Parts: sequence; structure tokens; C-alpha cells
Amino acid sequence: MTATFIYSDRFQAYDYGGGHPLRMIRLKLTYELLRAYGIFDAPGVSLVEAEPCTRAEAETVHDTEYLDVLKGIDEDRLPISPARYGLGYGDNPGFKGVYAGSMFSTGASVQAARLVQSGKATSAFNIAGGLHHAMPGRASGFCYINDPAVAIKLLADDGLKVAYIDIDAHHGDGVQHVFYDTDRVLTISIHESGDYLFPGTGFPNDMGEGGGRGYSVNLPLLPGTGDEVFTWGFFELVPPLIDAFRPDIIVTQLGCDTFLSDPLTHLRLTTHGFVKMVEGMKALGLPWVALGGGGYDVGNVARAWALAFGVMAGVELPDNLPESYKKLLKQNGIEGAALSLRDPGPTPETQQEFRRARQVAEAMMLRIKWDIFPVHGVRG
Ligand SMILES: [Zn+2]
Repeated sequence: MTATFIYSDRFQAYDYGGGHPLRMIRLKLTYELLRAYGIFDAPGVSLVEAEPCTRAEAETVHDTEYLDVLKGIDEDRLPISPARYGLGYGDNPGFKGVYAGSMFSTGASVQAARLVQSGKATSAFNIAGGLHHAMPGRASGFCYINDPAVAIKLLADDGLKVAYIDIDAHHGDGVQHVFYDTDRVLTISIHESGDYLFPGTGFPNDMGEGGGRGYSVNLPLLPGTGDEVFTWGFFELVPPLIDAFRPDIIVTQLGCDTFLSDPLTHLRLTTHGFVKMVEGMKALGLPWVALGGGGYDVGNVARAWALAFGVMAGVELPDNLPESYKKLLKQNGIEGAALSLRDPGPTPETQQEFRRARQVAEAMMLRIKWDIFPVHGVRG
């Protein structure tokens, strides 16, 4: 068993700019936390330097014209109508380095896919990846190049069946879009309902089209949903569908913007619910490409992804955070971060909120079981 962590300090060079919620420091903090725990010296664990993807790899998913626009920004050639490509101020600024940085984070996902495909790694984790909103011809939701889609496309083009499991707070719309009409890729996304959160899609009836009908699976959840209902949804959906689909490889998006303290979303997960699902992914017993994703409370991101890599590596990390890591938090002005690796306990469920969240989740699940499970021969 080998769990590989893919990283480079060069990720820090690609900065969305002051005030943007997606902060690159979260990647460094995650790496430094794992390093301080000494996990990279554990048996069966390897650390690999990230490399950029090639233009041809990016073009398996993205339009040439759009990639040229991104590259132009790096070379000080600004597009005449940036909005046409989803670019501009706000969510997707056209910052210098946007092309090189996106090729780099995508390259690390391609590396993860290749390592797992070749059997050199049982699991591989690219925390800089998981940018699931990017569309073939435009940027969306902080994402420019859709690294999960590129990695999955390369694997599928090699004849592999791939299942994509996305537990980010937001719907994995870009990945779903790319594979909407194929039965070679199964996408499952569990997220805060599009009625309340960007990108506004991801309902049970978004279930694929043509030959792909029944191969896009979406479970939207109410704001306020905590550990119990979210993980219930995961275990109701993921193991039976994966058992029936029998993929050669799984690609998972481990966004941790589902957490209680996340400033952009309204779910209420803790490390307990998150880890339970990561353990559920491991228990599927399949070659496993793990990617990062959202997460805007920086202190949570490092803890969640350190725990996730601990699960991949089979290493139980102690709750006490290393002193060197606490110092790093301070140096970077990150205040109020939890000082224990795990949250004290699962989400406390207030009666009323909990009942509503569960009722809605059950109703959505019934729809999925009615419409989609029969496509896969699964009894609901
Ligand atoms: Zn997200």
C-alpha cells in the first residue's frame, strides 16, 4: 500500500489577490501540518513534487480559444471581453500567473491519476486540485481549469471506468457537465442545495442525458445540515452505486467548505462527519485519486485534509497540533483557528433544524432511488 502526497511550494506563487476567499496559504498549512506530524517518513507514504500538465492534456476538456485567453493574461495580453470567459473582478480575477498556476494544479491531479492508474500508488492526494466548477470555455466559481475533469478524461480515454465522488459544499457542476452524456463516468455530488448556494444546480432530476442518463447523481441538502444527515446521505448513495457500477478507479473531491465555521456556506459539518466519509471512500477498496476543493476557513482546511491523508496512509494522527504548526498559524496572522486536530464532537443537532434537514434529505433520496437506482439494478 502506498499513499502519495503531491505538493510543491511553488503553488504559493499563484495568488488570486488580496481579499479573495481562496487563499493559497491553506495548501502550505496542510503540507506543513502533515510534515510536522512526520507522516512523510511513515512506511508506505511518499511525497512527490507537483508538475504542470501539458497543453494537450488541458485540451482534452477545454477549448483552445479559452486556454489562449488564460495564457494571454499571463503574458499581459488582456482579453477584450473577459466576461465572455467568466473572467474579471470578483470570483475569477484575471491575475498574472492564472494560466501557469492552473496548469500546475491540474498537472498535480494528472500525476495523481497516473500514479494510481499504474499501481505505483494505492491512493494519491492533490490538495491543490478539485477545482470542479470550471467549464470547457469559461472560468467559474474560483476555478479556471477543471483538473478533476481532465484527470478523469485521461483515465476514461485509456478505457477505464471512473466514478467521481464530490462532497464539497457546492455542486460539482463542471465535472458533471463534461461527462453528462456518458455511462463510462459516474458522477455523484452531495452538496448544499442550489436553491441557497452557488452554482444553483445539482438537483436529483439533473441525472444525465442520452447514454449517460442515470450516471449523474445529485443529493442537495438544506442549509443547516450537519454530520448525521450528510453522512447518512453519503452511505445511502455511494457504496451501493459504486458496487453496482464497478469502476476501475475513484476520483474524489474533498472540499471542506461544508464545515460549521465556513464563511461562504451554510452546512454544519465537523471533522467527525468529514472523516467518516473519507473512511467510507477508503473502504470501497478501489484505486483512489483524492483532490482538494473548497474550504474558506483556512484553519479547518489544514486539519481536514491532514486527517484525510492520515486515513489514506493508515496513520492515526494525534489530536495535539505540533508547536511548529501553531507558530506558522501565528506568523500568517490566522487567528481563532482550532488548536486540536479533531473537533470536540459531531455537530450538535438542534431539534427543529435537524428534523427539517432530514425530511428534505429523505425526500431527495427517494427521488434518486426511484429514478436512478433502477438504471444500475440497485434495489432502493
Ligand atoms: Zn465549494
